Amino acid sequence: MRSGTVLVMLALAGVLAATASASARPVTAQDRVLLARPATSEEKIAQSVAERLTGHPDVSVRCGATGIPDPSVLGVTPIANGHAFDYFLMRPAECTYLAWFHQAPKRWDPRTCVPTDCKTAIDIIWAVETVAHESYHLLGYTNEAQVDCYGMQSIWFVATRLGASVPEAQAMAAFFAQRIYPLRRVETPTYWSPQCRDGGAYDLRPASHSWPS
Ligand SMILES: [Zn+2]
Repeated sequence: MRSGTVLVMLALAGVLAATASASARPVTAQDRVLLARPATSEEKIAQSVAERLTGHPDVSVRCGATGIPDPSVLGVTPIANGHAFDYFLMRPAECTYLAWFHQAPKRWDPRTCVPTDCKTAIDIIWAVETVAHESYHLLGYTNEAQVDCYGMQSIWFVATRLGASVPEAQAMAAFFAQRIYPLRRVETPTYWSPQCRDGGAYDLRPASHSWPS
């Protein structure tokens, strides 16, 4: 299981969630079509999480066509002139992962997943992190290293809102920090910063030495 997980990790090394500043794009007609339909239950959860993380009252989240051909981009937040529009989009698979997690959080615990589930457990951690990452773009942050560091520190929050216990949610965040985040340094350095550590400039809770949750 361990080596299998490592292989998956390497395969995913280039699969890094989310973008915005790098591929910022304007609001499109396709976005409007997506936003016009009612949110699914998973999208509603993502919206409520994003509203809590941002303090914005009316966030919209949809899974559908992101307008970004690169399949490694899991989510996108349109930004123009430094302003987001209180919505973000994720690939359809991300909502599927959120739904699976919401249905049975324990099954996808990275500490205890059965080998056949562990790859999906990693995909789920990515989906959870994408919700957090894009939420910080909604606040207007465009520095991907900063946004991703904040997103990583909010994995536990998103996971608990989807039904995970606090220990499981913290384990998911720890998995991201220990197994995924270091790969960013070499694979996608714009998403990595040496300041993303306990006590670093991007530490959201400098008084706490629990990292990243
Ligand atoms: Zn981003």
